[in-house]
Amino acid sequence: MNREKSTRLFDEAKQYFPGGVNSPVRAFKSVSGPPLFIQKGEGPRITDVDGNTFIDFCCSWGPLILGHNNPIVREAVFKTAMNGLTFGTPTHHGNDIGKFIVDRHRYIDKLRFVSSGTEAVMSALRLARGATGKSKIVKFEGCYHGHVDSLLVKAGSGLITFGTGSSAGVPEAHAKDTLVLQLNDLAAVEQAFQLHGEDIAAVIIEPIPANNGLLLQCKEYLLGLRHLCTQYGVLLIFDEVISGFRVGFEGAAGYYDIQPDILTFGKIIGGGMPVGAYAASRELMSHIAPEGPVYQAGTLSANPVAMSAGLATLEILAEPEFYQEMERRTLLFVNILRSHIESKGYEMSIQTIGSIFWLAFTKDRILRSDQIDPASMEHFKVLHHLLLENGVYLGPSGYEVGFVSAAHDDCTLTDAAETICVCLDKVFQAA
Ligand SMILES: *Cc1c(COP(=O)(O)O)cnc(C)c1O
Repeated sequence: MNREKSTRLFDEAKQYFPGGVNSPVRAFKSVSGPPLFIQKGEGPRITDVDGNTFIDFCCSWGPLILGHNNPIVREAVFKTAMNGLTFGTPTHHGNDIGKFIVDRHRYIDKLRFVSSGTEAVMSALRLARGATGKSKIVKFEGCYHGHVDSLLVKAGSGLITFGTGSSAGVPEAHAKDTLVLQLNDLAAVEQAFQLHGEDIAAVIIEPIPANNGLLLQCKEYLLGLRHLCTQYGVLLIFDEVISGFRVGFEGAAGYYDIQPDILTFGKIIGGGMPVGAYAASRELMSHIAPEGPVYQAGTLSANPVAMSAGLATLEILAEPEFYQEMERRTLLFVNILRSHIESKGYEMSIQTIGSIFWLAFTKDRILRSDQIDPASMEHFKVLHHLLLENGVYLGPSGYEVGFVSAAHDDCTLTDAAETICVCLDKVFQAA
């Protein structure tokens, strides 16, 4: 595979951006070679500046549930952009998508648009703290919530300790307000509530943890979390930046039929434009300025072009059978991989929910991030390289999940699955 132009552009980019990128995982550090500079996308495929084409399972890390360059979304963007890009005033585009979501999501009374998932989470935490008057937050190891200071925190040593910053520049005071627990452990949550319940504003969780492998939790665990939060007067935040509109129109909350107090969105909600949102009951949202004292604002929030891309996307997702069809296709793809792995006896498994999948290099069902063996990522590195050579693009880290889009038809998925099987044979032969 020729990566000449990508290599040259990456060398140039290193002069302008730290590590040559504007978001760290893009740098291909955990796989081999320079990152590919993508020129265009069409349906399930992307093409790089050297003319190589790939079946894409990264899909811009999740937003592109309709695949690349969807003509309906593109037209909606063009049409709105004809009248100007932004006014910093309310527009009917905001109302249109607001109504569309509120009418179809049983757990949302009101929402507020922002410009990224990180901003949504950050604002949701402020709302939780403002509404409860408490300051501490509980999060779970292996869940990612954007680069919010108080959540860039990992577990300290000991069972229930406050966290330590997982990034330089996170003040110790922030880390001290964040309790980090392991997933799938209700007893730990109860113990934390007993010790610190008076001070805990909220528990935040990815109900479908998909940023550190796919750590699918049991419904009983999520229900237990809901009950404990209610019992101790702690708000439950579902970070649905990935799962929202992905596993169903009502996301994980609808999928598991569990009502969180606050929900956060990003990725799909903007249809490929920078959009995030947080949502809650009428009562909770009344704490947000200008209605209430919790301040939160944004120059480009709900800008009409982004709202149009989001609405055009959501309208397609709301069509009957959309999600059943996505799941059917994903299973078609996953089952080809599963039966190959089974027949060869490879030490790996495929986790999946809705149109999300993850290649795990272990046979065990993994529920917590500390069950992932970092050494297994060597297999992924080899696989990633082989797949690029053979026209399949996965996100450049073994901890990232893959996404199937509505543009990935049966034929494309079968081709991709067969390519992955051939490449897996090479990975395990080499090992
Ligand atoms: C991607 C993601 C975020 C951060 O969203 P950005 O738009 O990248 O700021 C937050 N939470 C979850 C669960 C995510 O997957």
